[in-house]
Amino acid sequence: MKCPTCGSEKIKIYRSTSCEDNIIRRRLCENCGHTWNTVEIDMDQWNSVTRSFSKMKYIISQLEALVEEMKAKILKLGGTV
Ligand SMILES: [Zn+2]
Repeated sequence: MKCPTCGSEKIKIYRSTSCEDNIIRRRLCENCGHTWNTVEIDMDQWNSVTRSFSKMKYIISQLEALVEEMKAKILKLGGTV
């Protein structure tokens, strides 16, 4: 990790706090004195988030296909969509 201000790699973590499942680290650049926070997400939690996201995308695509199918059926019956 590099300092976002000066690009130095002399970074010190001077405080770690946990917030729910995440760890917030307070970082300090020893070169310019810049401080900032980084959040470390638990990998298991991250995986479950990405998994449910791709699941959601799949469900949406299935719903879209269903809507198209219904539209076709309605048109076939002489209706308007
Ligand atoms: Zn710096």
